[in-house]
Amino acid sequence: MEKKVRVRFAPSPTGGLHLGGVRTALFNYLFAKKHNGTFVLRVEDTDQTRFVEGAEAYIVSCLEWCGMIPDESPQVGGPFGPYRQSERKPTYKQYADQLIADGYAYYAFDTPEELDAKRKEVNNFTYGLATRAQMHNSLTMSEDEVAKLLSEHVPYVVRIKMPEDELVSFTDLIRGHVSFETNLIDDKVLLKADGMPTYHLAVVADDKAMEITHVFRGEEWLPSAPIHILLWRYLGWEDIMPAWLHLPLILKPDGNGKLSKRDGDRLGFPVFAQNWADPKTGDLTAGFKELGFMPEAFVNLLAMLGWNDGTDQEMFTLPELIEKFSVERISKAGAKFDFEKAKWYNHEWIKNSAAITLAPAVTNALKTTGISIANDNYLLKVIDLIKDRCNLITDFVQQSGYFFAIPDSYDLAAVKPKWAVEKAAFFEEFSASLTGSLIALEQEDKFKELAVAHNFKAGELMLPLRIMLVGGKFGPGVFDISVALGYEEVQKRIRTAITIFNQ
Ligand code: GLU
Repeated sequence: MEKKVRVRFAPSPTGGLHLGGVRTALFNYLFAKKHNGTFVLRVEDTDQTRFVEGAEAYIVSCLEWCGMIPDESPQVGGPFGPYRQSERKPTYKQYADQLIADGYAYYAFDTPEELDAKRKEVNNFTYGLATRAQMHNSLTMSEDEVAKLLSEHVPYVVRIKMPEDELVSFTDLIRGHVSFETNLIDDKVLLKADGMPTYHLAVVADDKAMEITHVFRGEEWLPSAPIHILLWRYLGWEDIMPAWLHLPLILKPDGNGKLSKRDGDRLGFPVFAQNWADPKTGDLTAGFKELGFMPEAFVNLLAMLGWNDGTDQEMFTLPELIEKFSVERISKAGAKFDFEKAKWYNHEWIKNSAAITLAPAVTNALKTTGISIANDNYLLKVIDLIKDRCNLITDFVQQSGYFFAIPDSYDLAAVKPKWAVEKAAFFEEFSASLTGSLIALEQEDKFKELAVAHNFKAGELMLPLRIMLVGGKFGPGVFDISVALGYEEVQKRIRTAITIFNQ
């Protein structure tokens, strides 16, 4: 029988969630859902020095915003808990002990001062094959000496003993055959002096304990894979080792490096999913959500960073992504992040969404500028009129202000040079002709008819009408605006504007 698919997203709660992290979560999620499997959120918080208060809740909230709800997590629990590594601390030491007993790991008693001195003495010092014999560890000390130090509770770490002259090879389901020479890998610490495991030990112990079948993670973890594979082997679990899938990097738009938060700051776009306030410095880093991205668009654009379905299709809903997702179509090459393209996705999503779907987010955006919505139907009408013009949800604020208040300024430069009292007379008559029953086309006909009667070309009166209603040279069809505003409001705006234009 096929094993039930179980995948995990395993972030460390160290700060804001980078879009690369969300994409890792997404590919895990899509794979799990596609195979009726389980999507686990595991919080990797064993590095107490990098722990940041609030980061876990923030990660949970980002996943929720994207619609990726974990089946098992610290929040919802599950049969393989706890799902925070710090709460699993007592489970790891037995594996370190087992590895030592079997000769695959050793105690290292070197003090921080000794290690510092060594680093000064030897250029590019690494603790491993070439140097371990000169160090203060259970490989260079007698059993009695080691036992004595242990009984005196002298601090120690446990290090893996990398084998000599071996090639660790494996098949990555994205990258194919991969191999690493063990001589080039140092003896990584597995258990720290505070008794906490390092990432390397914890990740293997927990992937085993949680019966993870596939490890999807960023390419930056590829160099760690041989260490993990050796641990799976040394702990006697190689036959149940998960499949490995190292996702291509998300690259900066200019150049080849990995996209960093600094690139976002430099180029003026967010890199985090949601706003992140650093609890220590108070610094606020902008997120896609608050900038005005729809979660559907964010998920869609992330899926396309390193995956496609083999056709030209670019727009996908989450259920469609689940249906079409396949590991074979994940690319090996890094994917360049293009913010303009990201906005294009959001624009397409806004354009294709029903007003009722957009209404809650638009209402929130308007609220931040002091506009509160009194009439839901009116808001839906406004959204329908302007959504084609918005790349971001926040664009609705700028694009819709005049629907909720009479303009507080007018683009006079666009009207005044050609303004004349005869035009004022035309607008007075047009205004008087308006009734509540006219649809946009009828208003337009009336407008054109009156223009002819007043010896004007209708075209030269359209812009002044727009400026009267909107304040500036933007917005959808002017008669659509007029109908939405209602004739009494339009009459008021025409009257007010005429006074100003006449001055
Ligand atoms: N805790 C690691 C991270 O922060 C997880 C890497 C992995 O998935 O193995 O990304």
